Amino acid sequence: MVREDSTYEVIKSKEDFSEWYNQVLSAAGILDTSYDMKGMFVWMPYGLKIMKFLRNEWDKLFNEHGIEEVYFPQIVPMKYCKINKAWWEGFKEEGYKVIAGSDDKVQGALRPTGEPAIYPLYAQWVRTRNDLPIRMYETVSSFRYETKQTRPLIRDREITNWFEIHTCHATKKEAEKELLLHVKFLDYMFEEMLALPAFRVNKPVWECFPGAVGAYEYYSLLPDGKVMENGSANNLGQAYAKKFGIKFKDEKGKEDYAWMICTGNGGRFLAAMISEHGDNKGLILPPRIAPIQIVIIPIIFKGKEQQVWEAAEKVKKELTSSGLRVHLDARDITPGRKFNDWEVKGVPLRMEIGPREVENKELVIRARFSDAKTTMKINDLKSIGKMLDKIQNDMLDKSREKLKDSIIFTNNKKEIKGIMENKKIAKMYWCGNQKCYNALVNLNEGYEGFGTSINSKGSGKCPNCNKTGHEELFIAKSY
Ligand SMILES: [Zn+2]
Repeated sequence: MVREDSTYEVIKSKEDFSEWYNQVLSAAGILDTSYDMKGMFVWMPYGLKIMKFLRNEWDKLFNEHGIEEVYFPQIVPMKYCKINKAWWEGFKEEGYKVIAGSDDKVQGALRPTGEPAIYPLYAQWVRTRNDLPIRMYETVSSFRYETKQTRPLIRDREITNWFEIHTCHATKKEAEKELLLHVKFLDYMFEEMLALPAFRVNKPVWECFPGAVGAYEYYSLLPDGKVMENGSANNLGQAYAKKFGIKFKDEKGKEDYAWMICTGNGGRFLAAMISEHGDNKGLILPPRIAPIQIVIIPIIFKGKEQQVWEAAEKVKKELTSSGLRVHLDARDITPGRKFNDWEVKGVPLRMEIGPREVENKELVIRARFSDAKTTMKINDLKSIGKMLDKIQNDMLDKSREKLKDSIIFTNNKKEIKGIMENKKIAKMYWCGNQKCYNALVNLNEGYEGFGTSINSKGSGKCPNCNKTGHEELFIAKSY
């Protein structure tokens, strides 16, 4: 349902990203941010519909590749939390502890991540090589008592609509193959669904998830010039299997620990998509995840009502029957206000039909992304699907170009700060030495390095030691 009472709200300039972002979330009907619990928000129907497109897509993707959905309880027993001491040290300050009834004894923690809930059970399920691989995922909430400033979908205390894949394998080689499959999943979600470039880097091991031996991390550059970590695929090696006792006997009776992979992401997908594509009028949705792809606005004139309604209904029927998501706005308000409402909600195409269009057997189409206005013959409606595909591709192309223009190369340490003050990402070649990494990343407070490129073809001078570096290092302000 579309909210009938949506206000005629003027969206603030995107220049002030923080204000703009909060206003768009609420005006477009994504979230209600007034829930009286810091860092927790209400998903509104329109927002949830967009999120459902993403969820349905990953459900389909994972199931097609034999990764099965599972569900573990949200409360993790305290004894599970403490199995991996390093993990518990990292998360205990952010944990929500659970007490029940009048008993003050802490019974468990609301899950901050999936590992302590899932891995003790994996340890029970894995006995022999025949029990492997285990390939499962769940879509859940995670809870973290964040002390930094919270921001909807970017830093929440309840991280909702979050998927986690956790797999166990008998060999290192098999696990590494699995990791690359997860990278493909994340690339696909970014590029094909969200129309965002998959900005993927390889993390130095000291920057990985606690205990991981390697990771591919994804980042999004937000309009305020800060990068946001946006999904990761982690190679856990055998470290977690050793902590949780996930081991098996091979054919010869020899015992070995499982090789493990985990991947996760969720609402941040949406945060990046909204921030990247939106403008001063509100959201701009990529057609593939738009709950409404086309909105039809009848322009009613006295005496011509019936012809206009009939034509609008007919167009709706034809588009719907070809599998498109269409809404006919029948509200008794001015067309101008309807235009505004659907612009805020980012609907990719708007069709206007009035008496003149009925007479000429045509309609006026306005594309939200390009703002282009065209007139189309009603019997050409078959081409609308192609038009939506083109919008989806153009959005990705624009976003790729923008990222490319935002990455500024330097081999001079002194230039790094200025690049970031300019809301850009500094890129440099790096010698691979941890000391140089720390020196470059910690050059200025509040800036963060975020890993090395996996596709580095070139080489250049490391800005810290002047030796030749073959790895790309990016540095930006970060969330
Ligand atoms: Zn160096």
